Amino acid sequence: MANTVFFREILAVLKHILLVEDDEAIAQTLIFSLQREGWQVQWCALGQQALDYVAQHPVDFIILDVGLPDINGFDLCRQIRQQYQTPLLFLTARNDEVERIIGLEIGADDYCAKPFSPRELVSRIRVICRRLQPQATPIHSNSLAKIWQHDPEKLQISYHGQLLNLTRYEYRLLEVLLKQPERVLSRHQLMQAAWEHPDHSLERTIDTHIKVLRQKLKNIHDDEVIKTHRGIGYSLAKY
Ligand code: CA
Repeated sequence: MANTVFFREILAVLKHILLVEDDEAIAQTLIFSLQREGWQVQWCALGQQALDYVAQHPVDFIILDVGLPDINGFDLCRQIRQQYQTPLLFLTARNDEVERIIGLEIGADDYCAKPFSPRELVSRIRVICRRLQPQATPIHSNSLAKIWQHDPEKLQISYHGQLLNLTRYEYRLLEVLLKQPERVLSRHQLMQAAWEHPDHSLERTIDTHIKVLRQKLKNIHDDEVIKTHRGIGYSLAKY
């Protein structure tokens, strides 16, 4: 039960969407539909803008039009894939099999052929997020499992073989970070995932909890395992 609740919260957090589409009418329709789902949307009309944006902001999902004025969407996808594994869905101009195949071969998770209904797009995004979710919880990866043991039933986490004595929020913050090692999570994202009643005005309290959490980890082992990303948020170091 606790896992189900947590899973839903993570799905909710996975929704900072970058929309790359040069057709303003299509973009506005999509922005409206995506925001109605409670997702944040950043719209870029040009490929270069999108590249600049992903270099500076954590993005949970990318919707990418193949036909952009400044760069081919496939080339843009290849460039993004060199550094990021963000889930990505192509918007193709027509139901073109070649475009679909190329898109999937270069690492897109799905595609939508224009014209499509916003509802269809939303449901495809949901499916992709659900499908990818288990991969975003690699505490079972070998190197991490040596250092961390997580017992979600008992709400306990051990670090280097020692059981951590954590407050409720320290536990939940660490749980969120452990599910997505190396991923930079903003205070907003951490709060959305770890708090029952997220409150924007309280996001700075994340810093206080992280500080105490770090000290507890440091008492066991000297590594700086929670990294600060100035002006952005925090990530868990991968060993
Ligand atoms: Ca276009």
